Amino acid sequence: MSTLRFNALKELPFRNYRKDNSIEVPKKLSELFCENVFSEETMRAYLTKEAFTSIQDAIKRGAKTPRNIADQIAVAMKDWALSKGATHYTHWFQPLTGSTAEKHDSFFTPFESDRAIERFNGSMLIQQEPDASSFPNGGIRNTFEARGYTAWDPTSPAFIIGTTLCIPSIFISYTGETLDYKTPLLRAMHAVDVAATDICRSYFDKNVTKVIPTLGWEQEYFLVDSALYQSRPDLVLTGKTMLGHSPAKGQQLDDHYFGSIPTRVMNFMKELEIECMKLGIPVTTRHNEVAPNQFELAPMFEETNVAVDHNSLLMDIMARVAHKHHFHILFHEKPFAGVNGSGKHNNWSLATDTGENLLSPGKNPKKNLQFLTFFVNTLKAVHDYADLLRASIASASNDHRLGANEAPPAIISAFIGSQLYSVLEELEKVTDGKLSPEEKTDLKLNVVGKIPEILLDNTDRNRTSPFAFTGNKFEFRAVGSSANCAEPMTALNAIVARQLQEFKKKVEYNIEKKNLKKDEAIFNTLREYIKDCKNIMFEGDGYSDDWAQEAEKRGMSNLKTTPEALKEELNQKFIDLYEGLGIFNHREFEARNEIKLEKYSAVIDIEAKVLSDIARNHIIPAALNYQNRLIENVKGLKEIFGDEEFKPLAKEQMELIRSISANVSDIKTGVDELLSAKEAARATMGSQQQAEMFCNDVVPRFEKIRTASDELEMMVDDELWPMTKYRELLFTR
Ligand code: ADP
Ligand code: MG
Repeated sequence: MSTLRFNALKELPFRNYRKDNSIEVPKKLSELFCENVFSEETMRAYLTKEAFTSIQDAIKRGAKTPRNIADQIAVAMKDWALSKGATHYTHWFQPLTGSTAEKHDSFFTPFESDRAIERFNGSMLIQQEPDASSFPNGGIRNTFEARGYTAWDPTSPAFIIGTTLCIPSIFISYTGETLDYKTPLLRAMHAVDVAATDICRSYFDKNVTKVIPTLGWEQEYFLVDSALYQSRPDLVLTGKTMLGHSPAKGQQLDDHYFGSIPTRVMNFMKELEIECMKLGIPVTTRHNEVAPNQFELAPMFEETNVAVDHNSLLMDIMARVAHKHHFHILFHEKPFAGVNGSGKHNNWSLATDTGENLLSPGKNPKKNLQFLTFFVNTLKAVHDYADLLRASIASASNDHRLGANEAPPAIISAFIGSQLYSVLEELEKVTDGKLSPEEKTDLKLNVVGKIPEILLDNTDRNRTSPFAFTGNKFEFRAVGSSANCAEPMTALNAIVARQLQEFKKKVEYNIEKKNLKKDEAIFNTLREYIKDCKNIMFEGDGYSDDWAQEAEKRGMSNLKTTPEALKEELNQKFIDLYEGLGIFNHREFEARNEIKLEKYSAVIDIEAKVLSDIARNHIIPAALNYQNRLIENVKGLKEIFGDEEFKPLAKEQMELIRSISANVSDIKTGVDELLSAKEAARATMGSQQQAEMFCNDVVPRFEKIRTASDELEMMVDDELWPMTKYRELLFTR
């Protein structure tokens, strides 16, 4: 008897009767908002006017906080935290492991022999030294022998979880190399701010002094009952199922999407929302996703760095709250074969400090030209740096999703809708050089002027595109559900920053050397960009095979796997981009590439090991056990009916015995081949070559084992099957 599975299943009927399940919202959600955040309002209450102004300057304009002010802020933060019951503080940061890190220190400080106070000052606020040796660094620290430290990031507010004051921080080595996701993101945000502000002020609006990239993510996830989760070693160790037959009822009926949310899940969501509100994460929508037991959560968009912190924080909290409701949360991009995967759409735009969305057309021709400028430049950036964007979302788990059936392909194309596309086609016809007064009027009234109307009903949203314009923002849909948004957001903001710099140069050239008026120079520059980047625009079905062929004809990359994408990432053009913008030096960039390759190999290595273990220790014994029963049965029939008469009676059983043997033998040889391929990959020198070996020689060997095991699942008596089945994992609420 496969006890793990059946013990887990026994738990289920009691789940919905537990008293602690039902969640009451204590007060209005709006009253809970930011309760545990050292928010602007709290700061106003706790800080002197001088300190408040200084920190607002740091937040809004990146000004340096003087030491004496940092001391004041630290004391205020401590007083506020103590009033909320906090006892410890930590710098909270996002190392390249992919999860968040904290090192808790107590406020409690003994002095003399029997006395103590709660102490926290400016230097403790500004800097902390976690033991950094065990975080990934891609060889940087080995070379530089440098220790790492964390530094307070005042642009993201401090918050309290449980009894700990968490201070969002960046993580860098003593020699200045970045060791986390946040530092490059902040630098890329700065780069795009400077470049976009320059464009706004030079051509459109002198009042703009800052441009802020905004991010609104949509987090998809699966919930699995925690007992069932524990019964699947593959889920526990790899975050996904390595085998399992598709259930009879899959998502064919599409009855889950926007269906009513099951009660237990609802309670989880309610509690999660309360926690989010207290931490200032402005979640607004929740609904079922396409696959059974798949859900989505999305907040209002925020400044990108805060949105990134909030997403990382949310993923931690989700896991914790799920646990309380006897769920386990799966962020893996493809936990179940044959069922939709999970992504994390990154909605992105640029906002000015005058309150405008630069990707939203305005009321007059000037505003619309401003919209067009940022819109076309973004497309051009995506065109020129498609491979960098692709690499920024590469991971072993996202490989299962990209290019697979229900996710955008690995080809980085852009969808803008047929009407905007025709606007661009009009603009492509703009005269080279000076424009006649008639042409100018026509452009203003009939081409640019029509944009606002067009966007009003820009409803034909193409869900199959990895990068889509959705009315007033771009939506980068190829980001994986388990990813830290910082990496794709660093890439996107950096490439747009660089593109805007190029644009400025080009327009200035057109003004000075070709003697064009400002508008003419802009139209002339945009015309060339539109010509360049038309080939990444695609309006059709991104999931179709035709598109892959068409994209190849257009000369677009289709980097299907992580090793392929990471190989392209080391392009000198990308290194120049990051060095030029001061985001990474080439060593940091190469180190990150190395970390991702190593992580890829490690993930596949673990998956190979887990699959082999399960196949040998769980599947084969169960199959043989059942086969023995069949053999007993056949022997019995023969004994009762004699040599001739038993044959037709035992026909089915004998066939089953044979196919069980065939599948067992497939598994056995499959595992042997897998393990030797895995050893060969491990012995390969060089992280790129090693990752390629894992990708090309190890991953393809999973299939044979899985197919044989899934066949056995259909043959073996359900009572004897050790692995919790898909229907149980997916349809238990
Ligand atoms: P869908 O699921 O159809 O893609 P949603 O309405 O769920 O669309 O998601 C829209 C997302 O876009 C939300 O998370 C929202 O916060 C975000 N968003 C809206 N405007 C902006 C903007 N200007 N910048 C960044 N994100 C935005
Ligand atoms: Mg979306």
